[in-house]
Amino acid sequence: MSDDVELVLRSTRVITPGGTRAASVAVAAGKIVAVLPHDAEVPAGARLEDFGDDVLLPGLVDTHVHVNDPGRTEWEGFWTATRAAAAGGVTTILDMPLNSLPPTTTVDNLRVKQEVARAKAHVDVGFWGGALPDNVKDLAPLHDAGVYGFKCFLSPSGVDEFPELDQEQLATSLAEITGFGGLMIVHAEDPHHLDAAPVVPGPKYADFLASRPRDAENTAIGNLIAQARRLDARVHVLHLSSSDALPLIAAAKAEGVRITVESCPHYLTLTAEEVPDGASEFKCCPPIREAANQDLLWDALADGTIDCIVSDHSPSTADLKTSDFSTAWGGISSLQLGLPAIWTEARRRGRTLEDVVRWMSAAPAQLAGLAHKGAIEAGRDADFAVLAPEETFTVVPAELHHRNQVTAYAGKTLHGVVKSTWLRGRQIADHGIPTEPTGLLLERQN
Ligand SMILES: [Zn+2]
Repeated sequence: MSDDVELVLRSTRVITPGGTRAASVAVAAGKIVAVLPHDAEVPAGARLEDFGDDVLLPGLVDTHVHVNDPGRTEWEGFWTATRAAAAGGVTTILDMPLNSLPPTTTVDNLRVKQEVARAKAHVDVGFWGGALPDNVKDLAPLHDAGVYGFKCFLSPSGVDEFPELDQEQLATSLAEITGFGGLMIVHAEDPHHLDAAPVVPGPKYADFLASRPRDAENTAIGNLIAQARRLDARVHVLHLSSSDALPLIAAAKAEGVRITVESCPHYLTLTAEEVPDGASEFKCCPPIREAANQDLLWDALADGTIDCIVSDHSPSTADLKTSDFSTAWGGISSLQLGLPAIWTEARRRGRTLEDVVRWMSAAPAQLAGLAHKGAIEAGRDADFAVLAPEETFTVVPAELHHRNQVTAYAGKTLHGVVKSTWLRGRQIADHGIPTEPTGLLLERQN
């Protein structure tokens, strides 16, 4: 090891791109400089952290977080969201462009958000831009200013300042973004199918589920694939819930359409059958569907049709989570719980922690082009989570760090306790307690 090594992290189970093994990970200047044998000598002056049999994995990369700061800071904010991330083993988040005021739809607005985030970030923070009907001229400047891609809606977003694109506007924005080599990420629900679905106000989950039918997702994804094929555009489907769309997506991938797909912990660990009537902490759009649908989503993760798992952490104040599913705010808060929630279900289904790391760290880093994140190997940032995968805990909302401690996971017993989290070689959380805000603001490179 070279003389400048400051820190050595040692575990009998280190998850690397080449598999899980006993290793010592040498860190200098915030970067991984070598992955060495477990018994490698610790250089003079370097500190050793020996985690025993706890698993050392790369810090999670969560590319789908609604921080809502500035503007709706009673819902969430950079301080609380990034503390929740750190406590949960997430070392990088990308903030969605909507629900903050201003939304991230111009360079000036991006700068406002970066200023607000700067002193509050406990983890690294990057930003998505937004594609609106009237901001095509802002897309290239936002790309140059360092956003990681552009989010659009095809149906109403839930907030007036972030209108959706129709198919013609989608084509215009996609052509523009493709022209400079950018990425479009899409909330894919078709407005006509939503309009045609019955809306029955009240507390029944079945009524809410019927109001957001699978057809809305399937049609929107089919249209998106057609546009991506025609324009050779690079597109990403956000928060896939409908398993009916999987054959379409698999076929598009097989023919070379540049499409990637994410799903979220709630679609993969919670089912429509278990949602109590009136429990709108389970409301999100698209909705949590039936257990049989969930099984197919897991199959699609296994075969690569779904690329990654990210939180879609989208909180609001508790008073907006009314018992009427038709009017309650749609969004589930899980930033701190994604890793144990997914690991609990993955192990039940015979999947490995290596799979979880691929879905929740490597693949999201690749989606966003975060080449310095997402793996334990020389040259990457020294971002880690230390996990006791066999230990369990019960979710107590008061122990969560996001601002409004509403969660669909309350009372659940989950496998996988995050013992500590490390960002560029510094410990940023210790047994669920975040330390200092040492996160950096990230901008897209190249
Ligand atoms: Zn979202």
